[in-house]
Amino acid sequence: MTVVVFMERADDELSQQALTLARSLGGEVSAATVEGPYAPGAWAAAIVAAAGDADIVGPGSDRGNEVMAHVAAQLDLPLAANVTEVRGDELTRIRWGGTLLEEARLHAGRRLMTAAPFAFPLSVDSTQTLVLTPELGGAVAVVDHVAPDTGGKVSLADAKVVVSGGRGVGSAEGFAILEELAALLDAAVGCSRVVTSAGWRPHTDQVGQTGTKVSPDLYIACGISGATQHIAGCKGAKKLLAINADREATIFAHADYAVVGDLHEIVPAITAELRKAK
Ligand SMILES: Cc1cc2nc3c(=O)[nH]c(=O)nc-3n(C[C@H](O)[C@H](O)[C@H](O)COP(=O)(O)OP(=O)(O)OC[C@H]3O[C@@H](n4cnc5c(N)ncnc54)[C@H](O)[C@@H]3O)c2cc1C
Repeated sequence: MTVVVFMERADDELSQQALTLARSLGGEVSAATVEGPYAPGAWAAAIVAAAGDADIVGPGSDRGNEVMAHVAAQLDLPLAANVTEVRGDELTRIRWGGTLLEEARLHAGRRLMTAAPFAFPLSVDSTQTLVLTPELGGAVAVVDHVAPDTGGKVSLADAKVVVSGGRGVGSAEGFAILEELAALLDAAVGCSRVVTSAGWRPHTDQVGQTGTKVSPDLYIACGISGATQHIAGCKGAKKLLAINADREATIFAHADYAVVGDLHEIVPAITAELRKAK
């Protein structure tokens, strides 16, 4: 049995986690990346052609899940997304934004799956990676490249530290103290959905199930209650510092460090201490 792993890039963390999942299946594993403009249907066709009758595994990223959904549609086979464990044709996978672990069985001759983010360690050793060039067939053409405007600041997805605010911040203006702390830490500012729904911050700043999924070294959650849909976006953080006025807040169950108090006092106090230390 052989397994082909679709990797977004050889150094991409979620792709390396997919490689670890593929290796846990047993058998020979080969890795493939796809070059050229993003066209999920065409990328899937290139992967299907290269894979022959092998099992196919992809990363649990937005692109990984989208390309693998096209792979499954083209092969008319079921896809198990966000898998955390495989036992033969039985598996466990994450559903509903992390609220449910589903035990499932794949009723197919081949296994198509994506690895749940951060459910597997990285495979960092060098695996020979095949580079596939898809046939775009004129359906897709790159007309322009527009880099996201981060105003010269580190982006949410790449930041090593994220300072995130929820309803507890109180207003759009209230984010000034989070911005100030973030600037000192070279951090990005994130927020909860309540904040984007209120129009205090743009949707691009939202962390969560329907926002960006972040995996910084440190996630500082200020005035965020810790709803499952928010945690789905920040559970990849190595450490979580929660600042909340309510000592019963759910966020504390996910926190490595906890401060019970008013964020309007705590955040400026942290900023002042950091300034002194610099
Ligand atoms: C399908 C679906 C998808 C969703 N996707 C997302 C998503 O992607 N991201 C997301 O964030 N949410 C998402 N949500 C919404 C989610 O369920 C919660 O409603 C939301 O995360 C709550 O935001 P919050 O923590 O800012 O607000 P709240 O739940 O209202 O919590 C505010 C917190 O602030 C604390 N607080 C108040 N004042 C202070 C103060 N002065 N100092 C310190 N703490 C204070 C309170 O104690 C409280 O814990 C989704 C919901 C659904 C149904």
